[in-house]
Amino acid sequence: MPIKTTTPSRCPVCADDLVLPEAGALPWCPACRWNLDVYDPALGPWRGTRMISRWGFRRGLEVDRATHEQLLADPEAPPAGTSSGETWLIVVSVVLAMLGVAAVGYLVWLFVASDLPPGIRLALAIPAVLVLLLVKPSFGRVPKYGVLTDREAPQLHRLVREVAEAAGTPVPDVICADLSLNAGVAQLGWRQRSVLVIGVPLWVMLPRPARVSLLAHELGHLANGDPLRVRRTVLARTFGSRAVAATGGRNPWRRAVRSADALAEQTTGTVVLLGVIVHGIVALANVAAATGQLLVDSAAMPDIRRAEYRADLVARRVAGSAAFLQSSETVLLAGRIWQDLWHLAPRIDGEQLEAMAAEARERLAARLPLARQISRRTTDLWSTHPGEDQRMRLVEALPGLDGALRVDDNRWDGIDTELAPWRRAAHNALLGTRDRF
Ligand SMILES: [Zn+2]
Ligand SMILES: [Zn+2]
Repeated sequence: MPIKTTTPSRCPVCADDLVLPEAGALPWCPACRWNLDVYDPALGPWRGTRMISRWGFRRGLEVDRATHEQLLADPEAPPAGTSSGETWLIVVSVVLAMLGVAAVGYLVWLFVASDLPPGIRLALAIPAVLVLLLVKPSFGRVPKYGVLTDREAPQLHRLVREVAEAAGTPVPDVICADLSLNAGVAQLGWRQRSVLVIGVPLWVMLPRPARVSLLAHELGHLANGDPLRVRRTVLARTFGSRAVAATGGRNPWRRAVRSADALAEQTTGTVVLLGVIVHGIVALANVAAATGQLLVDSAAMPDIRRAEYRADLVARRVAGSAAFLQSSETVLLAGRIWQDLWHLAPRIDGEQLEAMAAEARERLAARLPLARQISRRTTDLWSTHPGEDQRMRLVEALPGLDGALRVDDNRWDGIDTELAPWRRAAHNALLGTRDRF
């Protein structure tokens, strides 16, 4: 995001210069934060209507505030059992699963026990098949590419094992690398194996202690049982988005009108009327599904938000407060650092990426205070993670910790050697995107 500090006027509270990071955004005061925590259509995520977007923004702030209060009072508090939001999601998931079972029973009856003519049977089967498509479980797949085996990367595996031990979490079954500016953990496949994915571009940007913090945050999700919780409620959280996709995605009414127009050009009379009715029903189903999904997600998000903060506290305990804050700062600057590396890419090789990223990080550090404040404007209830500023403030408000795990430079060098092919791949990706422009 381009950060341009124009000064429209002065702060009414402290008379400091206001900032306006983008045309059309609402200005705020970087010094005393006057007008910072307001819904800003120019910067906030768009959720269909302004009313819903504003509600989601405010609700997100409320959940953050409540979670901070709770965790500051007792950072070691274990996750509260099943929350009311989760209970709702489980109930919805069970109802959807029963619908699926009923649809299977109905299909079996239709084709085995009923003696209706075949054409009618087929027509009667369509609704049940649609229901099944919406509620069929999906477990995801363990990635085939990028798997780093224990034999290929013994030092990295050792580090992950140590982080898991310090965090009190299970060791992930599979470690994968990819070329995203991200990292994550998920439970995938029929066997629901835990998979840790390390985005190498983000990894090379992070100072070494901050890498431990990143790993500890991700493994912290395994300790909190988040992927498991996610699985128990997966039907409730996915049926709406599947229905939206099945009925054509965004802008259902525009599509309905366009299809009716196209039909009217080709035919006349009853066919057009029928077409309008069918497209109207599809659009209605689309809107109903999108609204249903938003409601379901609203029930799920407070839990997901709390899980993120708890994973941050695991990172603080394992890697230390300073390493956690470094990793947050790197995440805030990651897009800009990647841009800098893109410019440098033709003049360096993969082995220089890390040093160049560190230089870029230093150079861009002056942007951090503003980037932190902007992160408050760009997150809402439905964002996967709280804003970086909120996450950092929680850790800053707690007593500083040194971290339980220390890794010496020899070992880091060993891990770097294991990941050398991936640094080359990241460098190639930089050169590749350059070619495309
Ligand atoms: Zn001010
Ligand atoms: Zn997380």
